[in-house]
Amino acid sequence: MSSIKKGFTTTLLHSDRLLQPEFGALHQPVHTSVTWGFEDVNGLVDVFQNKKKGYAYSRQGNPTVNALENKITQMENGLSTVAFSTGMAAITAAFLSLLKKDDHVIASSFLFGNSRSIMQTLTEIGIEISFVDATNVKDIEQAYKPATRMVFVETIANPGTQVAQLDQIGDFCQQHKLIYIVDNTMTSPYLFKPVNVKASLVINSLTKYIGGHGDALGGSLTDTGLYDWNTFANIAPLIRESTAPAMHGITQIRKRGLRDGGGTLSPEAAHVISVGSETLALRLERTSNNALLLANFLSNHKLVKKVNYPGLESHPQHQTASELFKAFGGLMSFELSDEIDCLTFLNRLKVVVKSSNLGDTRTLAIPVAKTIFHELGAERRKEMGIDDSLIRLSIGIEDIDDLLEDFTQALY
Ligand SMILES: *Cc1c(COP(=O)(O)O)cnc(C)c1O
Repeated sequence: MSSIKKGFTTTLLHSDRLLQPEFGALHQPVHTSVTWGFEDVNGLVDVFQNKKKGYAYSRQGNPTVNALENKITQMENGLSTVAFSTGMAAITAAFLSLLKKDDHVIASSFLFGNSRSIMQTLTEIGIEISFVDATNVKDIEQAYKPATRMVFVETIANPGTQVAQLDQIGDFCQQHKLIYIVDNTMTSPYLFKPVNVKASLVINSLTKYIGGHGDALGGSLTDTGLYDWNTFANIAPLIRESTAPAMHGITQIRKRGLRDGGGTLSPEAAHVISVGSETLALRLERTSNNALLLANFLSNHKLVKKVNYPGLESHPQHQTASELFKAFGGLMSFELSDEIDCLTFLNRLKVVVKSSNLGDTRTLAIPVAKTIFHELGAERRKEMGIDDSLIRLSIGIEDIDDLLEDFTQALY
């Protein structure tokens, strides 16, 4: 089985087994040991000096976490993956392990709120960041300068659902030898593989679709193997001397971002996420079907002003999304007409949960202006096109009739 190229789900289901855990177990066991003991101290020395594979201390490596990293690498068709305690830990590690003072980053202005706020922190320690409209590669070209090291985008932006011009940005980054980081959380590797648009590093919040059940936090960074780390000035001399060029980036991320940064994923959470990921394809098929039906229903309703969903033909990047993604996923947002109050409407929903998470099996809804974008203030929200009545939905895998009925009874 290991020698034959299998489909997405088959590969996931058999990944642990092929690592040959004890007693023919089908899951990698949950290894709770923080440290490993050696009969002969030379074994410990060899692991420390990278002469032998093995484990020394769980902050920087654990067999249960490694088995999950191995699965994510396969899902993303990548080279190597490092897992973290949360998606934000993975994002922070990418910046802090690869950038230096005075480096310049070009980032999409449509970003997950905390990705945006960690960038604000980075600017205060000497990293310059330009925010651009990533739905147009021309804006990225204009922001480019000699100090630019990295371009950071998301696939489908939250809550506006803008789709970045992922393909053209990949070509631009390759031309200018820039690290191209794609946060694939909203699409997940089932709907989209950033390696296909020449991404260098892929971020996933495992908390969302990959874990999928809202019961564990996690994050990951995958090196696609496409970036030529030989040309990257910020690799530490010791890493340059001791690893093959292809492994420079991920090794520096593991050492600086994970070992030194310390945002380690627990083996218990790794196990929960790993089991959750087995049904990623099934859940996303169902979620995407539900979301498209609901988006059509809402866009035809007289009390709904506007629906943002890449699966609708009216969406400005519908063409790009159709070309790049297997389906359109579960993220959607909509504005209510002035006759109906956003909070009153939300309180009428009986199946849909009022909650801030995304990528759960359950359908979740949140009033954007009063919660996740509240800190920004009215003026900034207006600039970003966030209407006071905007509601973000993360569509789950419920029976579609129950969702349609819930929205029907609440919209009056
Ligand atoms: C949730 C999310 C993150 C952060 O992930 P956590 O696991 O909550 O830290 C990053 N990027 C995107 C696009 C997200 O939706």
